[in-house]
Amino acid sequence: MRKIKLAVDYGSICGGCDVAFIDAGEKLIELANAAEIVFWPAVVDGKEEDLRKTREIDIGIFFGAIRTERHKEALEQLREKSRILVAFGTCACYGGIPGLANSVESRVLLKKGYVATKSTDNPDGKLPGFEEFKEAALRLPRLRSLVSPICDFVDVDIWVPGCPPPVESVNKLIDVVKDLQEDQVPPKGLFIAEGRSLCDFCEREKPEVLRIKRFRRVHEGEIKRDECFLKQGIICLGPVTRGGCGARCIDANMPCRGCFGPVPNVEDQGTRFLSAVASALMAEEEREVGEEELRKLIDELPDPLGLFYMYSLAASIINRRYLDLEGD
Ligand code: SF4
Ligand code: SF4
Ligand code: SF4
Repeated sequence: MRKIKLAVDYGSICGGCDVAFIDAGEKLIELANAAEIVFWPAVVDGKEEDLRKTREIDIGIFFGAIRTERHKEALEQLREKSRILVAFGTCACYGGIPGLANSVESRVLLKKGYVATKSTDNPDGKLPGFEEFKEAALRLPRLRSLVSPICDFVDVDIWVPGCPPPVESVNKLIDVVKDLQEDQVPPKGLFIAEGRSLCDFCEREKPEVLRIKRFRRVHEGEIKRDECFLKQGIICLGPVTRGGCGARCIDANMPCRGCFGPVPNVEDQGTRFLSAVASALMAEEEREVGEEELRKLIDELPDPLGLFYMYSLAASIINRRYLDLEGD
């Protein structure tokens, strides 16, 4: 049977998506038997030149968000050469954690990282430049003004959300590679995840009508293991998040932070959650509680942007508004 040509390239990553493949254990042998790995820096020795010289790839897998011009070039090259392009991990699908950078200007971020942190010794306040270092034949890639999910630039054939995707998703993707050996091509737009919300897979006792009297954080008191987090006043993004992770945070008695991205037909995960929370905030009692009291309740939420958009800010409507303004 012919071997499938496979390449992996990267945007802005933490390395967790590579590690997710290691979790597949013996199934990796099936991948090695089915695929010729043309380029995958974390797994086989190879140079960018090898990828540049390869004319056609059967399956290209992209990890990470688009943060620099180099990431965009790498993505566009992979798309051009690949019959099937996979967005692997939440960073590639929705911008992920790197996307939170879109709430601050890049220059402010650089100053924080290279000047303001206590452990940094940089008395001249020098920031990294983007010039060429001719002696070292090195060119630092320019930062783009915004972090983006890969679908902002290219067509995506398979989506594998998760931060990182669980081993079950990795196994299913390996099966896709094996199927390609027999010319079985997956449907375009395939999501290796569920089509329903995480709440549909959560075994905690859910309230018939959700009413939140006050918010609290996970460290503020005991968390009941069998009761919905929202009923306990703890923010859990289950209602607006795609299922498919095996409810791994919920099982560890931690609320969902939304890493599988929005449920189908919801464009903006954070806004949808905000509207659900607003109606749960004692809406019926609004007249008795009064606007000021309601505002106090909402102020109890620390870092709402980080809470509601932890993984999806770069794919949100707010982010797209910035894109419109910047014409980026
Ligand atoms: S999706 Fe998560 S694990 Fe994968 S690169 Fe992004 S931050 Fe890391
Ligand atoms: S909101 Fe969270 S805890 Fe409640 S049912 Fe949904 S996933 Fe489970
Ligand atoms: S429970 Fe939510 S945050 Fe945790 S792995 Fe599942 S989708 Fe991701």
